[in-house]
Amino acid sequence: MTRVAVVGGGIIGLAIAAELLRRGADVTVHDPAPAGTDGAWHVAAGMLAPGGESAFEYPHLVRLLEASYERWPGFVAALGDVGYDTTGTLSLALTADDVAEAAREWRHQKLTPLTGSQVRDREPAVSPRVRAGALAATEYQVDPRKVVAALRALLAERLVPQRVTDLFDLDADTVVVAAGCGTAALTGLPIRPVKGQVLRLRGEPGLLRHVIDGVADGRHVYLVPRADGEVVVGATQEERTDGAATAGGVHDLLRAALDLIPGLAEHELTEITVGHRPGTPDNGPLLGRLDERTVVAAGHFRNGILLAPITARLIADLVLTGSADPLLEAFAPGRFR
Ligand SMILES: Cc1cc2nc3c(=O)[nH]c(=O)nc-3n(C[C@H](O)[C@H](O)[C@H](O)COP(=O)(O)OP(=O)(O)OC[C@H]3O[C@@H](n4cnc5c(N)ncnc54)[C@H](O)[C@@H]3O)c2cc1C
Repeated sequence: MTRVAVVGGGIIGLAIAAELLRRGADVTVHDPAPAGTDGAWHVAAGMLAPGGESAFEYPHLVRLLEASYERWPGFVAALGDVGYDTTGTLSLALTADDVAEAAREWRHQKLTPLTGSQVRDREPAVSPRVRAGALAATEYQVDPRKVVAALRALLAERLVPQRVTDLFDLDADTVVVAAGCGTAALTGLPIRPVKGQVLRLRGEPGLLRHVIDGVADGRHVYLVPRADGEVVVGATQEERTDGAATAGGVHDLLRAALDLIPGLAEHELTEITVGHRPGTPDNGPLLGRLDERTVVAAGHFRNGILLAPITARLIADLVLTGSADPLLEAFAPGRFR
């Protein structure tokens, strides 16, 4: 039986470990906080939006995102209720300038523009000041915290509470490094933390049905409503490594959220969190063999939730059969050397 040590128990490490376990490997997951909330997954909203990256600039990444998107129904079937919701995403633009900016994106994604009143027919809580919108019917959501909890339950016996500092300390045939931003220190690969501030509001369920992806006076915001009345409001994107929630960041998110959906003013502000997306020089993840014993699966940047199912499948294939799927070619960990 192949003995595999996975370093990192975030969504990527756990998804890979669960796939390896399902296929009969002897797998352990090493993370200093196996029951904790470290990791970008804890902050992430969980939008499953393969159209969010430019097909023109990043064709290989878009192919990977689409391949992973298609695997989500099968992936959640093994996990139970993890908040996988296929209602779709409504894109909103508040002012005429916002409409001009958003319309470029809508054209690019081939979405049909809606007038303000057509938007409110679909989502009555939208402000009467919102001028226009568009429906991205196939952009879904999932709750990353529920996904991680379900994966942890599947792997309960396999979680080892350990911060790995030297990969040679691990007694295994193969080591999979899936430590998010922590991968840089372990491997020397160019992964940098990109800070994001996210708020969580809570109120009566049912104010919103769709995920909202909006722009209000030039401020971008997304709102992800969960069935239990939680609304995730995100996110700033800052080239910073600190973990501070800032007055400006929170203000911009709340202002845009309330401009688009005034009824959110009555919700309770329950959480302000800061996470770090594991970014890479070309925005694509690092997936593949680093040396004979070491495989890397990290650097998923803005799309690590969406990319978990395909990453798990491709890395498990590589570890167990030695065969590298052609999808991996563009994401070789050594491509920046
Ligand atoms: C604000 C924000 C919003 C986001 N929104 C979305 C979204 O809507 N959709 C989407 O698809 N993605 C989103 N993402 C991106 C997504 O969260 C990440 O790409 C994803 O979490 C990466 O998964 P990971 O497992 O590689 O890293 P993480 O989730 O960061 O987990 C890394 C794990 O590795 C462990 N670790 C680190 N160092 C070591 C070590 N030395 N030894 C052992 N363990 C270690 C940590 O404790 C942690 O548990 C968002 C991210 C942020 C920050």
